[in-house]
Amino acid sequence: MPELPEVETVRRQLEPLVSNAKIIDARAHRSPKFAPALEAIGSTVANVHRRGKYLLVGLLDPGQAPGGPPSRELIVHLGMTGALHVDDTSPSDPYERASWDLADGRTLWFRDIRRFGRIAVVSAGDHQALPTLHHLGPEPFDPALDGPRFHRALAASRSRVKTHLLSQRPIAGVGNIYADEALWRAGINPGIRRVGPTRAEALLGHIRDVLAEALDHGGTTLRDYRTPDRSTGQNQFRLDCYGRSGRPCRRCATPLISRELDQRTTTSCPNCQAR
Ligand SMILES: [Zn+2]
Repeated sequence: MPELPEVETVRRQLEPLVSNAKIIDARAHRSPKFAPALEAIGSTVANVHRRGKYLLVGLLDPGQAPGGPPSRELIVHLGMTGALHVDDTSPSDPYERASWDLADGRTLWFRDIRRFGRIAVVSAGDHQALPTLHHLGPEPFDPALDGPRFHRALAASRSRVKTHLLSQRPIAGVGNIYADEALWRAGINPGIRRVGPTRAEALLGHIRDVLAEALDHGGTTLRDYRTPDRSTGQNQFRLDCYGRSGRPCRRCATPLISRELDQRTTTSCPNCQAR
């Protein structure tokens, strides 16, 4: 599933492609997860922002002056297999779930094989219809997020530390890949329920590092993740922990183990992450 580095990579490519483009028509799969795409007809794209794993496309309503604050947002969650492309011709693809025709003849479209993605159009900033987005924790690179604040956020739940990270509440944008990577770097057992202040601060630093490094490498492509220009990420060649079950730990050579933790496959080093 695309996590922060993948979604931010998409955002960076997408914004210059669609900014100032007017949406003159749209088509969408009838599912309520995709049908709201039609509500963007007539709007002009102002910008493309990101919160956690969500893309927020700012929309100017018809007649609204360019340069002003967008009155609405087109929200796209890529789910497991979603990708956005901008092409000169209309898509002809069995996995097209929504498409937006732009006034200059190009088409922005959403491809999603497994249909775990989601599209919504809301008043700008009104995210109550999307509870995960509404309750999202701080962005990892928010300067106001420091060790003590992150420690308090972790301590607010009795869940296992990895499960709590995946909830998006202590910090936004971390999924299975980068949670496993950051916990491995921090030497923290993903199954523990209490993380002290010193280890919490260290974990925050490792989360920031793994996300920043992955972003530098265009994200991690395991199977389906593609950027708007259809390129893959390169970070999959740099993973230390995720997907390396049975292979030697790069720190201590103990074989990594994989287990189900609250229904999520979790890889860790039984030696470095014993507690
Ligand atoms: Zn180890």
